[in-house]
Amino acid sequence: MGLSSDNLFLENLPQPYRNLFRSRLEEVSLPAGTVLYEAEQVPRYAFFITSGLASKMVSMSDGHTAEIGLAGSEGVIPCYYLLGGDPTSPARCIVQTEVTAWRIPFPELRREVQLSEPLRQLVMKCAQRRSMILSQLAACNRLHEAEQRLARWLLTAHDLTGASSILLNQVLLAEVLGARRTTVTLAAGALRRRKLISYRRGHIQILDRARLKEAACECYETVSSLFQNYYG
Ligand SMILES: [Zn+2]
Repeated sequence: MGLSSDNLFLENLPQPYRNLFRSRLEEVSLPAGTVLYEAEQVPRYAFFITSGLASKMVSMSDGHTAEIGLAGSEGVIPCYYLLGGDPTSPARCIVQTEVTAWRIPFPELRREVQLSEPLRQLVMKCAQRRSMILSQLAACNRLHEAEQRLARWLLTAHDLTGASSILLNQVLLAEVLGARRTTVTLAAGALRRRKLISYRRGHIQILDRARLKEAACECYETVSSLFQNYYG
């Protein structure tokens, strides 16, 4: 870990501003389950992930939860709230697989976004991509089956982390998919029986990526294309 492990957002800042800005960031390593910001609260920090994966989740009053966004080393967390307005939301952001990141106090970055045009441009591009992904996931959560969505999620997680084995428990998976645990167990069991994934002690491994793509809903390709050419 060090300056070599990087984040696409930071890489897209123009020099010499990039080096100046980076000198204000602090490197952190955060285990799965860490809350990056809590619902209805002003975020304490903003994060630029360099490895690992975080999910944006909405919880209902009955405790049911669903994922409405996911992010890796392509952008900044949080994003929309950096542009102004109310900095709180009904969503929380949680680390899914161990994350390394650069962080900066959220109020400091929010001020900086007002001062720096290159920074604001990147935040707007990131916000646009995130909102497109959010709208696809909103439809996916309603229209597609748990097995298709699990396949979609695992492929995207693999793309974002570069790791073929993902440590996840069934509770987290159920929260991500907005499904009951029994539904997730059945979906994971079906993918395992078809030898698309293996599942042992919380480690999910992709065994056959090509066939897992066929098992996923079309949202995988849509979301995947939104992660391509991110600041183009
Ligand atoms: Zn879908």
